[in-house]
Amino acid sequence: MKGKLLILAIFLITFGTLPACIEVNPLHKISQTKSSPIYYKNRAVVLLYHNFKNKECGTAITPDRFEQHLDMLEAEGFKVVSLQEITLFLNGKGTLPPNAVSITMDDGHRSNYTVGYKSLKKRHWPGTVFVLIKNTEEAGTKNDQWLNWEQLRIMSRNNIAIMSHSFNGHQFIKGRYPSGDSWFTTRLPGESQADYQERIYHDLLTARLIMQKKLDLPVESFAPPFGMYNQDVIRAAQKAGYKYIWTTARQAVTSASAPTELPRVSVGRKNTTAQQLKETIIALGQR
Ligand SMILES: [Zn+2]
Repeated sequence: MKGKLLILAIFLITFGTLPACIEVNPLHKISQTKSSPIYYKNRAVVLLYHNFKNKECGTAITPDRFEQHLDMLEAEGFKVVSLQEITLFLNGKGTLPPNAVSITMDDGHRSNYTVGYKSLKKRHWPGTVFVLIKNTEEAGTKNDQWLNWEQLRIMSRNNIAIMSHSFNGHQFIKGRYPSGDSWFTTRLPGESQADYQERIYHDLLTARLIMQKKLDLPVESFAPPFGMYNQDVIRAAQKAGYKYIWTTARQAVTSASAPTELPRVSVGRKNTTAQQLKETIIALGQR
């Protein structure tokens, strides 16, 4: 007994307090053994959401389902990065963590603030909203369905990048999604090719200039409405000052991805479970 007390006394003198030694080491071991598998490296899967509603419909999902998706990302060891981290990686100026995902929301529904932003902020996660600027310009006067400038400012100061989904190009000239003729990819009746190119360029430039003025931040990314684009759209966007175009191609971003055709996967869909989301991300990350 005397011997044991002597050993304890020597131990305490040498290493300080006993409880600190006991507590720190086991915790460290637990965190090591609980590490998640690495599904993929040097890639990012960019997720696309639209709207959040209490009744699911098309690309509107419930706030609960969004939370379940985020819970899954956290529990399964996915690392949520910003689009900027991805573009730095593309430019060879940064690295991506294993299992990288990014969260984007299209159209600028007010629920992107009341649900999307609030859920991401709780977890200190970044995100991106692609906004239709004409709707934001009219928010609060004609309707309260869309994000207003104050909400965009709050989000942009809190880790949510605000990017362009065009000024007013979210429409079809003929037909409907997915087979119709979209405003961005189709010439109007009697419109010359030059006038068509000028029309889409002017829309994209207007959106970028208004956003930069109101938010005082660079707007480098554009997501074509409905994911529909052609070479004219890419050229017009580049001329209007956008460096990155985010499409809806179901792939992961890799170092070989073209900055003007970056893929995203639409996962904010009715009945999409967290398990299905997990399988989708892993499949795309490993393809
Ligand atoms: Zn859209």
